Amino acid sequence: MASDELHSIVVPMYNEEHVVGLFFERLVAALADVPSYEIIVVDDGSSDRTWELLLAARERIPQLRLIRFSRNFGHQTAITAGIDAARGETVTVIDADLQDPPELIPDMIERWRDGADVVLAVRKARRGESVFKRATARVFYRLVRRLAAIDLPVDAGDFRLMSRRAIDALISMRERNRYVRGMVAWVGFRRDAVEYERDPRAAGTTKYPLGKMLRLAMDGIVSFSLRPLQLSAALGALAALLGFGVLVYAIFERLAGHDVLPGWTSLMVAILFMGGVQLLSLAVLGEYVGRIYEEVKGRPLYVVSERAGFEESAPGD
Ligand code: UDP
Ligand code: MG
Repeated sequence: MASDELHSIVVPMYNEEHVVGLFFERLVAALADVPSYEIIVVDDGSSDRTWELLLAARERIPQLRLIRFSRNFGHQTAITAGIDAARGETVTVIDADLQDPPELIPDMIERWRDGADVVLAVRKARRGESVFKRATARVFYRLVRRLAAIDLPVDAGDFRLMSRRAIDALISMRERNRYVRGMVAWVGFRRDAVEYERDPRAAGTTKYPLGKMLRLAMDGIVSFSLRPLQLSAALGALAALLGFGVLVYAIFERLAGHDVLPGWTSLMVAILFMGGVQLLSLAVLGEYVGRIYEEVKGRPLYVVSERAGFEESAPGD
């Protein structure tokens, strides 16, 4: 096994006081045979004791480097900050709740040695997640894949290893609406995958309530595809066609001498349908315009309030 290049592990944490200890125990054990690594934890504005526990953990784990956000910026942004700070030849992103088994990391590094630039960890099965979560996740991955114009792998979350050149390409993408797995797919390079069974969360509760999940789904679809705009155009065309059909029907009825009271019903249907289609199309358009506005403001992606472990040089330097 080749030398002592540095491997970075990036971990986003938001209110994870119940898993911090467990997580490091398993991660450090899993990395026992990796000669040189750094663990970069991004505290995404936790309001519980996560940060204190992280600082304390630095006493035991010298490879630990910490970034604390000034507020909650969201999972994808936390991953971004970790990736920005990583200095390794490979960077592996992993959730803190032990749903992603750290024991997979040495395997993933092996795949990288064999020449892969992106090593995905693909979920073969999900244990202990609600039927609702599993069903929505299933639909979500397939929908995004359908709508997005990129080759997005199904059933792979953010647990993945990336090579330095893939990471550098990712770092150069500073867009605000971040859907990291889509961006990684966009970057390209040679992909490989390891399979695993997804365990239930080790402790604590999910930090992805329905609202955040929907937001992520929107990001996934809208950031990578103009298809919703095309769909709304298609819907508009359909409505116009329908309106025209009703018109033709009305004329025929008139010519046939049927005594039709120019229909209040059909009129209402047409108005409501057209109105609905227009509002929907406007909303789709608005979604994109809103995103353009966000981008144009050019704000930084995140604000850091504290760092620890960045003073001295990393192991392996
Ligand atoms: N997370 C984060 N910021 C957020 C929400 C989540 O950094 O705003 C982290 C969280 O601490 C965890 C990972 O993202 O390490 C995945 O979150 P979670 O396990 O709650 O999501 P789920 O697995 O339920 O989809
Ligand atoms: Mg989880």
